[in-house]
Amino acid sequence: RAKSAGGNRFELADPEADARAITRHGLTTALPAALDRNEFFIEYQPLVHLGDGSVRGAEALVRWLHPQHGVLGPDRFIPLAEHTGLIVPLGRWVLDQSVRQAKQWQERHGGNDATGPLRINVNLSPCQLSHPGLVQDTVDILERAGVSPDALCLEVTESALIGADDDLLKPLRQLAEMGVDIALDDFGTGYSNLANLRRLPVSILKLDRSFTQGMQQFPADPVDLKIVEGIVSLAHSLNLAVTVEGVETGAQAEQLRILGCDTAQGWYYARPGPPERLHELALVDATG
Ligand code: C2E
Ligand code: MG
Ligand code: MG
Ligand code: MG
Repeated sequence: RAKSAGGNRFELADPEADARAITRHGLTTALPAALDRNEFFIEYQPLVHLGDGSVRGAEALVRWLHPQHGVLGPDRFIPLAEHTGLIVPLGRWVLDQSVRQAKQWQERHGGNDATGPLRINVNLSPCQLSHPGLVQDTVDILERAGVSPDALCLEVTESALIGADDDLLKPLRQLAEMGVDIALDDFGTGYSNLANLRRLPVSILKLDRSFTQGMQQFPADPVDLKIVEGIVSLAHSLNLAVTVEGVETGAQAEQLRILGCDTAQGWYYARPGPPERLHELALVDATG
């Protein structure tokens, strides 16, 4: 106590910061072996059509079952994997697993004329975008699994595409031409010039959770409503579909539906979970 109040306080270590740095270092060095040892697993969170409530697919969210630290969320290790380059093989693994999983769902549910086959959304980090193997790897993964490119959506954050030059956009364009959907994730948190959207090969805007949070009360804040309304009408006029993240209540879902958003995702429908959970949700859905 006396010591921390004394003149040498600048020499005192911050134990928490130290622990964080040690863990970061430990996690970084453990990452490559973790991939070999199969310590990563994927949870799936359903994507629900706001108009009719049907489950249309799911987003793949990676987790690490660390032997000492337990289950770690992607925010704990994706930045480290990006820093070391491990994100490329890890991202490829996530894509491969998720696409195979989608195949299993599709085989079980057979699809339906109105909803189409169940779809899979996979997050892509900026390092994967600039990796030359992306397009070929994606083609190979889809072919091997027997999944149509239309059933895949790759999510790229708005910030990853801000100021992106043509070299960076080229693989996305190629994928989009094949029929893969590209979604702009966490939309509204960056500073993209809305006019810039026309230049990007995206077909879906994923409105960031912060907008959904503004819809917590009923009726929602009128300014928030206006902003979302504006984004939705701009998106639709550019032929983009709008997905909303972070829907936690029925009131939010209802307001977002009224505002014309197309698809929603959030705890109100389901938390991310094991793949069998999607079977149950989609089945309940199919049988009423
Ligand atoms: P994201 O792509 O924006 O994913 C949505 C995040 O919101 C997920 O966090 C999800 O669990 C959380 N979420 C979903 N519904 C709700 C809700 O109703 N309320 C609240 N409060 N949160 C909700 P998670 O799983 O921790 O993932 C965090 C981020 O990590 C993702 O954000 C994504 O950017 C990244 N990520 C996850 N998996 C991968 C991956 O395989 N590759 C890459 N590159 N990034 C990934
Ligand atoms: Mg995402
Ligand atoms: Mg998101
Ligand atoms: Mg987000």
